[in-house]
Amino acid sequence: MASPPSERVRVRRLPKRGAYDRQTIDAILDEGLVCHLGFVVDGEPRVIPTGYARDGDRLLLHGSRSSAAMRVLAGGGPACATVTLLDGLVLARSAFHHSMNYRSVVVLGTGVEVVDVAEKLEALRVLTDHLVPGRSADARGASASELALTTVVALPLDEASAKVRVGGPVDDAADHDLPVWAGVIPLALGHRSPIPDTEVPPGGPAPTYVTSYRRP
Ligand SMILES: Cc1cc2nc3c(=O)[nH]c(=O)nc-3n(C[C@H](O)[C@H](O)[C@H](O)COP(=O)(O)OP(=O)(O)OC[C@H]3O[C@@H](n4cnc5c(N)ncnc54)[C@H](O)[C@@H]3O)c2cc1C
Repeated sequence: MASPPSERVRVRRLPKRGAYDRQTIDAILDEGLVCHLGFVVDGEPRVIPTGYARDGDRLLLHGSRSSAAMRVLAGGGPACATVTLLDGLVLARSAFHHSMNYRSVVVLGTGVEVVDVAEKLEALRVLTDHLVPGRSADARGASASELALTTVVALPLDEASAKVRVGGPVDDAADHDLPVWAGVIPLALGHRSPIPDTEVPPGGPAPTYVTSYRRP
C-alpha cells in the first residue's frame, strides 16, 4: 500500500480504510461532481460546496472573481477540498454501529491561480467536460468578459488521502442474535431522462452525450 505523502493526511482513525495511491484517489475524484472546499476568511473557517474537475495531477476549481473562496485560494491561502461518494446506509443491530459505505478524498494544499488565457480556457473546458463528457465541443466557450469575471485555481494533488468503507455492519458479537434486521441499503447518484429547455427547437434530437449520459 502506498504511504501517506505527509503526516497531516495520514488516516489515523481506522487506518486500514485509508489509501494514498493515485489510482484510488483519481477514481473517486473522477466520479464525483461536487467538492466541499475549506478555507479561512478573517481567521474563521468556511466550507463551501462547489464543482471541480481533476486535470492530471491537480484539481481545478473556478468561480466568480469576487467569491471569497476564489479570492483566498488565488491569494495562496491554505485550502482543503473533500469529495464524498455515498455508497450505502449500513444498518447494524445496535444504533451505535450504524454507519455508511463511502469513498472519500481529502486534498490539502495551496491553490495556484491559472492566469494564462489559453491555460484558463483549457481548464474551463476540462471543468465543463467533467460534468458531461463531450459538452465543451458544443457549448459556446467563454467570452473575454466572462473570462475576466472568472477565477480559475489549481490545487495540486500531491497531498491527498482517500478513505473507503465497504461491506456490512460490524456488530458486537453479543448483538448478533437480536431479532433486528441488519444489512446495507445501497445508494447511488443516478440520472433521469433529459428535459429539453423550452427554447430548444421541437423535434431536434438531443446530442448523444445527453441521451446516453450515464453515471459511472
Ligand atoms: C459519508 C461519510 C460519513 C461519515 N460519518 C462519520 C461519522 O458519523 N462519525 C465519524 O466519526 N466519522 C465519520 N466519517 C469518517 C470521517 O470522515 C473521518 O474519517 C473520521 O471521523 C475520523 O476523523 P479524524 O479527524 O479523527 O481523522 P484522522 O484519521 O485523524 O484524519 C487525519 C487525516 O486523514 C485523512 N482523512 C480522514 N478522514 C478521511 C476521509 N473520510 N476521507 C479521506 N481522507 C480522510 C485526512 O487527510 C486527515 O487530515 C464519515 C465519512 C464519510 C465519508
